[in-house]
Amino acid sequence: MKTSLRNLHILMLLFCAILTSATKISAQNLSAAWEELTSAEFRYAVERSEEVCIVPMGVIEKHGQHLPLGTDVFTARHTSLQAAGKEYAVVFPFYFAGQIYEAMHQPGTIAYSPDLLYKMLEETCLEISRNGFKKIIFVNGHGGNTYFLQYFCQTQLAKERDYSVYLFTPSVDADTQKTITSMRKSTTGGHADEGESATMLVVRPDLVKMERAGDESGADQMRLNLPNAYTAIWWYSKYPNHYAGDAAGATEKLGKVIMEQRIEQLSKVIKTVKADKATMTLQKEFWQRSARY
Ligand SMILES: [Zn+2]
Repeated sequence: MKTSLRNLHILMLLFCAILTSATKISAQNLSAAWEELTSAEFRYAVERSEEVCIVPMGVIEKHGQHLPLGTDVFTARHTSLQAAGKEYAVVFPFYFAGQIYEAMHQPGTIAYSPDLLYKMLEETCLEISRNGFKKIIFVNGHGGNTYFLQYFCQTQLAKERDYSVYLFTPSVDADTQKTITSMRKSTTGGHADEGESATMLVVRPDLVKMERAGDESGADQMRLNLPNAYTAIWWYSKYPNHYAGDAAGATEKLGKVIMEQRIEQLSKVIKTVKADKATMTLQKEFWQRSARY
């Protein structure tokens, strides 16, 4: 009797150990991609990410004659997933609602209204927060989103919320910049250019048609002369083909240099955001003080 009790006890301990290691394994092998997780895995992912979720943002727009419409979404998501592989965070599915009126004249562009763009992003953040993430990092792959995202972030102070939003603002260190400059064959750029095409040669080479890179001009047409003044048509005035630069010299090697530095920088940002307690403390203090008036 005593022996069988002891055996039972050992068996139970063994069972618990197996269960614990199974939980550990599932937590270790969690995908960073939100849509790849099962519902049961999701809570482990929230825990493991320390409540950090990345929203990789792009848009659907023309990228020269040689890159796919979804270029910005592909590169932002690749950067995010690779960075999350180094420092775990959950990466939101493909997000392509972005500001892109300036390319509406080109086939395939999806240009939602400003009201919807704002509301879409606001509700996306609310849903991310409702699912347990209290730190949201935007990773932007689309130049036309720059001011919209800064404005969106500023307006986060408008009312109290239980999460913080961070915008990844990448920079290139001096050494990497030197390498990039020495590798680049073109000196101008801006859109679907040598650098962006090189990154796509890393991210989705199967979708790049380099032989078509020279089919249109990506040169500045210089059709406006308005120093110290901003107007909406500025981009179209320069680049009516929605192509800025010359992509012909793009190589996978250059793409790797650009991507690796960006991915490394983002992984550090994820780490910093995980450790950051000051933002929420200050937000709370701010809302408390604002409520008095
Ligand atoms: Zn782009």
